[in-house]
Amino acid sequence: MSLWVVLDRDGVINHERNGCVRSVTEWEPIAGSLEAIAALTHAGFKVAVATNQSGLAKGLLTVAELEQIHQKMCDDVERLGGRIHGIFYCPHDSHSGCDCRKPRTGLLDAIEAHLGADLVGAPMVGDSLKDIQAAKAKGCQPLLVRTGKGTQTETTTLLWPHYGTDTRIFDDLAAVAEFLIRNH
Ligand SMILES: [Mg+2]
Ligand SMILES: [Zn+2]
Repeated sequence: MSLWVVLDRDGVINHERNGCVRSVTEWEPIAGSLEAIAALTHAGFKVAVATNQSGLAKGLLTVAELEQIHQKMCDDVERLGGRIHGIFYCPHDSHSGCDCRKPRTGLLDAIEAHLGADLVGAPMVGDSLKDIQAAKAKGCQPLLVRTGKGTQTETTTLLWPHYGTDTRIFDDLAAVAEFLIRNH
């Protein structure tokens, strides 16, 4: 049985930038996040990334630039002995009504279809309410990190009883990995 984990990208793996991360030079990993992915790989987890990239629709970066960023992210993880099995992104903006932009589940459906994963019950890590909502809509186990927008999400949203009860909260992806490895 494979253990899948879905990660949001911005605010979970790398630091957020005002607007969006537009190039490889603007892509800056959060301390310990790449090591956390490598640790998950070593422990038998398969990691996929699901990320909203509305900067594409807004013309802030091109698909080629986004793919360069993702190549660097995968290379850096592989250098540490880890592996990202797939990166799925929504290129649309919030007005498009697409099925892939989180909180909708299209990216998660695509991970299942293309990678042969079964994500029901799988942990999904994010820093925004949209991630938590997508996780719940798909039947994943929602995990919130306090990096990126996470602290704001925790203080504003998770006080709502509906979101607070089954969402586990961690300081960062390193703490998530430690928890998942200890408890799987
Ligand atoms: Mg995020
Ligand atoms: Zn979309």
